[in-house]
Amino acid sequence: MKNLLKLFTRTLLIAFLFAFSGHLLAQESKVMEITKDVYCFVGAHGYNSVFIVSTKGVIVIEPVNTAHAKELLKAIKGVTSQPVKYLHYSHNHWDHAGGGEVFEELGVKSLVHYEAMEWMKENPHKDMRVPDRSWAGNIKKITYGDKKLELHYLRNSHGLGMTVFFLPKEKLVYIADLITPDRVIFSIVPDFNINGTVRAIEAIEALNFETAIFSHGRYIGTRKDVTMAREYIQDVQAAVKAEFAKGTNFMEIPYVVKVPKYEHWGMYDKWLSYNVWRIMLDMYMGPYPWRYEPNLQKPAFE
Ligand SMILES: [Zn+2]
Repeated sequence: MKNLLKLFTRTLLIAFLFAFSGHLLAQESKVMEITKDVYCFVGAHGYNSVFIVSTKGVIVIEPVNTAHAKELLKAIKGVTSQPVKYLHYSHNHWDHAGGGEVFEELGVKSLVHYEAMEWMKENPHKDMRVPDRSWAGNIKKITYGDKKLELHYLRNSHGLGMTVFFLPKEKLVYIADLITPDRVIFSIVPDFNINGTVRAIEAIEALNFETAIFSHGRYIGTRKDVTMAREYIQDVQAAVKAEFAKGTNFMEIPYVVKVPKYEHWGMYDKWLSYNVWRIMLDMYMGPYPWRYEPNLQKPAFE
C-alpha cells in the first residue's frame, strides 16, 4: 500500500512536470555558481533568479514571489556573509515582481524601469511591493563596488519595462520570459508583441555575451539558445505567410502549420497551435500589445 501510494505520488509528480514543462516545474531548489561571484538560484517552482556578490554587497535580480525570495535569501546566506543591498526587477508581471518585501525588510534598495513602475502602482497584488526607485531611458550602467552591471531596456517586447541584465566583464546576460530554451513560446504567448520580441532578441544578440541565464527552464545557455528562440518565431511567421499565400482557410492554419525543426522542444505538441494562433493574429490584425513610447530619446540598439 505504501509502495502504491509512493508510485501514485511519483506518477502525479511526473504528470505535473510534464504538464508544465519548465514553467511551474516542481523540483529541489539549488544554487549554481556561474562564474566567480555570480550565482543562479534555481527555484523549486520553475523560476530562476541571479545574485552577484560585490564588494558593496549582494545584488539580486528577480525576487519572483515571497516563497521564492525567502529561499533565495537563504541560498545567498549559504554562499556569502555580505549583506543584500540591491534588488532589480526585469519587468512588471506579478509572477516575476512579487516577493520584494523579503528584501525590503533588510533595507535593500530596489530598482525597476519606470514603465513597469507605473503599471505596478496601478495594478497592486498582495505579494508585490512597488520598488522604491525607477529609471528611464534605454541603458543604465551601474557600478557596484568591483562589479559592473548594465540594464538594457528592450522596449515593447514582453510586458512593460522589459530589461535584460548584462555583465560586460563576465560576458553574461540574464533574460526573463523573452526566451525559454528548448521550449516553444509559453502557451497563448501572453503579453508579447511578436515583432518587438524579435527586435528585442536581436538587441540581446548584439551584446557581447557568451553565457545566458534564463528565468525559466534550463537556467543556463549560450548565444545559440538566444538565436534559436528568434529563429523559431521567424520560422512560424514564414510558415503562416506560406499558408496565407496558398489561401488556406484562416481557421485551419493553426492546425496545419508545423515547424519540425523544433519538434523536440518542450510543449511542441500542446502549444504550437496556440503559438500559431497568436503569431497569425498579430500578422493579420497588426501588432499588439502596442504603445507609443514618447519618452525614448532614441530607439535602443538601433
Ligand atoms: Zn512576464
